[in-house]
Amino acid sequence: MAARTRILVPGTIRERVLDRLKETFDIVRIERADPALLARSEAASIAGVAVSGSFGAAMIEHLPALEIISSFGVGYDGVDALAAAARGVAVTNTPDVLNDEVADTTIGLLLNTIRRFPQAEAWLREGRWKREGAFPLTPLSLRGRRAGIYGLGRIGLAIAERLKGFGIEIAYHTRRPREGVPYAYYPSLAELAGAVDILIAIVPKTPQTHRTIDASILQALGANGVLINVGRGWTVDEEALAAALKDGTIAAAGLDVFYDEPNVPQALLDLPNATLLPHVASASVATRDAMADLVADNLLAWFGRGVPLTPVPETPFTRKTG
Ligand code: NDP
Repeated sequence: MAARTRILVPGTIRERVLDRLKETFDIVRIERADPALLARSEAASIAGVAVSGSFGAAMIEHLPALEIISSFGVGYDGVDALAAAARGVAVTNTPDVLNDEVADTTIGLLLNTIRRFPQAEAWLREGRWKREGAFPLTPLSLRGRRAGIYGLGRIGLAIAERLKGFGIEIAYHTRRPREGVPYAYYPSLAELAGAVDILIAIVPKTPQTHRTIDASILQALGANGVLINVGRGWTVDEEALAAALKDGTIAAAGLDVFYDEPNVPQALLDLPNATLLPHVASASVATRDAMADLVADNLLAWFGRGVPLTPVPETPFTRKTG
């Protein structure tokens, strides 16, 4: 019987990925993606990787027979896709299956930020409703607002679809205008921020998006402004944001992602007008199962039919056999 293809799984990953992969492949596990944890002899037999988190150039270099890295999540900034591309190694991610969940979370976070529902629930649970009376009226409302979406991709579009139902105006910024959408396009983030009073960030972590939401963008968003970030913490200058929330440059912020997770700056934790979530936008069992299945299905498709299901744009490869 031919030896089974060997798949390396560094670090933790959803059990469902392992259960699916075990049926077809041999699994090799290491604590984290560190070449020092895998002997050369073992490294030589690895043909595929399933990973949730980082997988850098040193690991890619350590695996001479590597063909594919199947990454858990739509954002694949933890995987060095350019190093993989240079080696002819395919990289896949898990797009689309989480669009609706992440968009739903974004709306929940937006409403919580503007209408302060978490604080209102705490008021009830702490007995303050009984003791002190009604929860204070929220100074902010969704009514009459205009939302700007920074990144109108797969998820940004699903967020826009939901916002339409709230009857508020929608605009967006991307590097290139998206064809066939009815929303106003702004060629720069600064112009978008100046034209709206809700800014929703859902862009990937790339060199170009680093700390692009800085003091000047927050200034442009204005005193009634609300920032929502569900993309990557990398995109926001957290120090500038904390200062803007403190001095009233903007009104409130809702964040699901942070620059150095799971470390959340004390300056943000101290602010009553910051609504903070621990990176849970896609974190339901059903959606994480769908993502897990796509991680496994990409490896099965690659080694079975020679084509990945959802390759990232940097690695448009098919499998070379023989
Ligand atoms: P897409 O690739 O479909 O969309 C990305 C969008 O960002 C596109 O509209 C793109 O347009 C735009 N964009 C990229 N770079 C720039 C730039 N420099 N300036 C302006 N716009 C830019 O990705 P998804 O919608 O599937 O996912 C987006 C990101 O959301 C992921 O990469 C991930 O990091 C994050 N995410 C976070 C989650 C969470 O748990 N909080 C869950 C899921 C995703 P154009 O190329 O025209 O500029």
